[in-house]
Amino acid sequence: MNILVINAGSSSLKYQLLDPETGVLKAKGLCERIGIDGKFTYKPAVEGKAPQNAVDIPMPTHSEAIQAVLNALVDPENGVLSSMSEIDAVGHRVVHGGESFAASALITPDMMKAVEACNPLAPLHNPANIIGINACTAVLGEDVPQVAVFDTAFHQTMPEVAYMYAIPYEYYENDKLRRYGFHGTSHRFVSARAAAMLGKPIEELKIITCHLGNGSSICAVQNGKSVDTSMGLTPLAGLPMGTRSGDMDAGVMEYIMNKYDVDMKGMMNILNKKSGVAGVSGVSSDFRDLDAADAAGNHRAALAKQMFCYDVKKYIGSYAAAMGGVDAIVFTAGVGENSPALRTEMTSGLEFMGVAPIDQEKNQLRGSEVDISGEGSQVRVLVIPTNEELMIAMDTAEIVKAL
Ligand code: ADP
Repeated sequence: MNILVINAGSSSLKYQLLDPETGVLKAKGLCERIGIDGKFTYKPAVEGKAPQNAVDIPMPTHSEAIQAVLNALVDPENGVLSSMSEIDAVGHRVVHGGESFAASALITPDMMKAVEACNPLAPLHNPANIIGINACTAVLGEDVPQVAVFDTAFHQTMPEVAYMYAIPYEYYENDKLRRYGFHGTSHRFVSARAAAMLGKPIEELKIITCHLGNGSSICAVQNGKSVDTSMGLTPLAGLPMGTRSGDMDAGVMEYIMNKYDVDMKGMMNILNKKSGVAGVSGVSSDFRDLDAADAAGNHRAALAKQMFCYDVKKYIGSYAAAMGGVDAIVFTAGVGENSPALRTEMTSGLEFMGVAPIDQEKNQLRGSEVDISGEGSQVRVLVIPTNEELMIAMDTAEIVKAL
């Protein structure tokens, strides 16, 4: 089976062609500068096929971008498919499904109305996802089924007590302002893999999944269901991230806006783009740069890393309390998968809750699923590479097969 997975942004579009049954990746790539000049990247995963790297292809709209993807996939010389009819379905990442979607869904004109209704909740992301879906329909026609996989869907199982904000209730009733959470596809994927690694049904487990990348969130997964997560109405909440502040006193906004005559748009730009570890360190949003600066004696780089680890540890403790225990802690995404030093820091001092110091030899292993728990640990500490595209392809296949 061939599933084309699309992650459309406002001026870019990432794609992968995958077999959801075997997990085999056939090709992937990126369309950038859509609506500007258009740069196309294609990486076939088949030997002997030539890649294309940031090639100039005019892409006035997302439709030309999708057409460029299809042309590359069926190219007689370097394509990985002999015709477009070999694409069984398309799976789209959609950021916000609001309260309308608790699972992935087949794309139909009616359901698209519900997706559009979520636009005010994610004004920067959802409209772009919708443009990507419409572009696929325009280029592939109505006969190729398409499925939407929502970042928020997995978290729809959170209980009211976890998702409500302590603001006047009418903002929930009238505007649906509440915690939604994101990275749900990743939290779902790695929690399922964790259960497989532990050899136990997920319905019997309490797992804390830490998706730590450029954007970071933590999720409490009890009996296979998300019961709490650190991101909120938007992905700005929770942990400090590459450039996002994470949680802080809203009074800080009032102070900055008043004293420095910053308007709301400017304030949100500061909180989303200039804060987090980049803001604290003044060095970079990338943890590799922070490591280098820290090694050279930069105090603020060291502090930014410490603040990040401290907050991760606090979430681990609070989610263990929320679930009444924890069987496994999972690290995933760019930082979670690649930083042995931060994993050590984030799990240190947790012996009181059954987390033994992690195994430093296993902690150095990269690129695969590893149990890095220390000897005698009651709580397993796991590193699991995330694969959101595969999860999207698997959901898409499941929905399409049932048609
Ligand atoms: P995104 O949230 O954009 O999907 P990723 O999950 O790919 O991001 O994570 C990217 C981040 O991972 C980088 O910004 C970098 O901070 C971090 N990272 C990648 N490799 C390493 C490494 N070897 N050590 C520490 N951090 C790393």
